[in-house]
Amino acid sequence: MYNIFFQPVKSIIPIKTTAEKALERLKINNIRDLVFYKPYAFNKRNDSPNLRSLKEGESIQADVTIDAVHIPQTKRSPTKIYTSNDSGELVLVFFSKIPPFIFSRLKVGKKCTVAGKVQIFDGFCQINHPEFIFKKELLSPIEPIYHLTYGIINKQLYGYIIDAVAAIENSIKAKNSFGKTSKHQIALLNEESYMQELLSEIKTLHLINLEDSSQINKQIDRAIKLLSVKELFANQVALSRLKRAENKVIGQKFSINKDLQRKIIEHLGFQLTPAQESAILEIEQSQAKQHQMMRLLQGDVGSGKTLVALLTMVNVVSSGYQAALMVPTDLLSVQHFKFFEYASQALSGSDLAGKEIKCALLTGKTKAKERRAIDAGLQNGEVDILIGTHALFQESVQFKKLGYVVIDEQHRFGVKQRMELINKALNPDVLVMTATPIPRSLTLTIFGDMDVSLVKSKPKNRLPIMTSVISSSKRQQVIDSLKKKLDQGEKIYWVCPLIDKNDELLDKKALFNENQNSSALFANVTECFEELNDIYPEQAAILHGKMKSAEKDEIMQRFKNGDIRILVATTVIEVGIDVPDATLMIIENAERFGLSQLHQLRGRVGRGNLQSYCILIYNFKRLSEMARKRLEIMKNSNDGFYLAEQDLLLRGGGEILGTKQSGEPEFFFAELGRDAEKLIRVNKVAKETEGEAEREVKGESCNNSEQDNTRFIDFQVSLFKRNQEKLAKSG
Ligand code: ADP
Ligand code: MG
Repeated sequence: MYNIFFQPVKSIIPIKTTAEKALERLKINNIRDLVFYKPYAFNKRNDSPNLRSLKEGESIQADVTIDAVHIPQTKRSPTKIYTSNDSGELVLVFFSKIPPFIFSRLKVGKKCTVAGKVQIFDGFCQINHPEFIFKKELLSPIEPIYHLTYGIINKQLYGYIIDAVAAIENSIKAKNSFGKTSKHQIALLNEESYMQELLSEIKTLHLINLEDSSQINKQIDRAIKLLSVKELFANQVALSRLKRAENKVIGQKFSINKDLQRKIIEHLGFQLTPAQESAILEIEQSQAKQHQMMRLLQGDVGSGKTLVALLTMVNVVSSGYQAALMVPTDLLSVQHFKFFEYASQALSGSDLAGKEIKCALLTGKTKAKERRAIDAGLQNGEVDILIGTHALFQESVQFKKLGYVVIDEQHRFGVKQRMELINKALNPDVLVMTATPIPRSLTLTIFGDMDVSLVKSKPKNRLPIMTSVISSSKRQQVIDSLKKKLDQGEKIYWVCPLIDKNDELLDKKALFNENQNSSALFANVTECFEELNDIYPEQAAILHGKMKSAEKDEIMQRFKNGDIRILVATTVIEVGIDVPDATLMIIENAERFGLSQLHQLRGRVGRGNLQSYCILIYNFKRLSEMARKRLEIMKNSNDGFYLAEQDLLLRGGGEILGTKQSGEPEFFFAELGRDAEKLIRVNKVAKETEGEAEREVKGESCNNSEQDNTRFIDFQVSLFKRNQEKLAKSG
């Protein structure tokens, strides 16, 4: 196995601690990270120029012979090395101490290759602090330039990359030189040719051994294209393999209880939408099967995913198992808990294995005493449905008979964490619900191992939200227009990016570019509240992330009840909050939010049968072309699935899903917006490949240690490896 790719850099190449730290800062940990580290530009050097006709400032590289070494008497003067070749003379100048490993090579009569920028001084051509090239065979006269951090210089990083490439090359050679049977040989040959191809693309990327330096850009583009296909292919094979593994995991069978479901729906006074019905049906098909369910439920904001979760939980509970609902915020957990409690009132008196459905709420803020009671209830089976935040996954939380886990609004949930879930002793069915629709290409790359259900339509009587885009210069008019809404008894959200004047935005980079402080450019909740409170006394309240959770709950409750009618908030209200009679959403500094976030925020209104509106206020001083496009798209579409595709095109994949936060590596080369079509093709091929593998290895149990092999080579190689093992067995 070519696990050299996953070895820490330090274990393969000698590097200093400071450089190691610097590499860490660049997120380069293993050899793979290193050789996939893309240069962003390159520096072309004139190779073997005529030394008599050099120009000031020219970058050159030349083979020279050392004629004399002149070490100065005083520390102040520089060391000078006089060199020459057939074409002329060149002086090398050092103003500081020459590193010993270079100094030891500076013997009169020795040949060396030097590079650097030419300076003309006193009529002599010289290079200050030249670069000495010791591995000339690996170097082209064109030097790639990398993004750096303190503690490492370009040449050093490039040197490491060259060393790493050489180490990979050696490992390919070594691997193919030990004893092989003829059957092994075939697998090894496949593997070798794959690795050779990969290596040649890596070399091109870093301009190593370039044969034709006239069309560098073209060659690099081609290499990146080939690498991104490999990368996507690897990702797709990994996921389809994961899916295969998941399909083999034995879980629980549940019986479907339409009766109890109907009672709940009636109690709520709802009628299921066709989309909810078909999603429930799909989930139930999995529930009725023995193998563990791994399903993604995608639906637009307000499409009613929570109810889908609840009704399918009812099946589980009535089959004698427990269910858990995990949500990302305290606020949301409270809301869901209340909804579930209310809904389960429908069942009071019904005979559910001799009792009613009992729900419990567990968050990081649950008091110790209450928590002990919940823990006990979970262990003795008294609690049927547990709702909570991440606290729910702590080890101390033990269920008597957990059968079903639903994760709401959790789009920061990586392949690895899913595997952790699968490996929980009880193998519960898992339903992951996304906050906003995800473009198909992202669904394939991040959730490709899961079954997918879509909830596209919304409950009846919902009118599309009307969106307008307004400059902050007209802000006062917006404030005045609130009166009409309030008079009609409707409710309003007013969203600002900052909490108060001193609050700092997370995206400092944006501020840095503008060279101004945030308070001048971004609206804040505190001042906005004061402003609105003056005009509409006792109608407004504040909600933001730094408030205590009890305080937040209270405000939310008062807003729901109608004691207050204007909620001035930060984006804490983004996720999942449900107040059906809120009809106006105002978002200040809308130019700074992404499409998904704007759509999420806007989705807080339009949840009842009243016409709802969204006003996007932008600060005209900050309106970039990109932001203008986003606002335009928002104005013209309410379709979350469409917005998601647009978002991907504008931003690229990693950011949308927040895969960075999930710890999942981003693609090195592929860009999901750009490569969407490629991905669909690759997905097909990957399925076929894995299908073949499946047929070939039928009966072979799945190896859990392969779980991590979810990207790139990791499993290309294990694919080959498995072939080898198979060959070994049969031979
Ligand atoms: P989301 O999919 O964004 O999580 P919710 O589950 O919060 O949406 O549902 C949005 C609102 O629609 C809630 O008030 C919910 O009670 C209501 N709702 C859900 N399903 C139906 C239905 N079939 N008929 C009427 N209202 C529904
Ligand atoms: Mg929701």
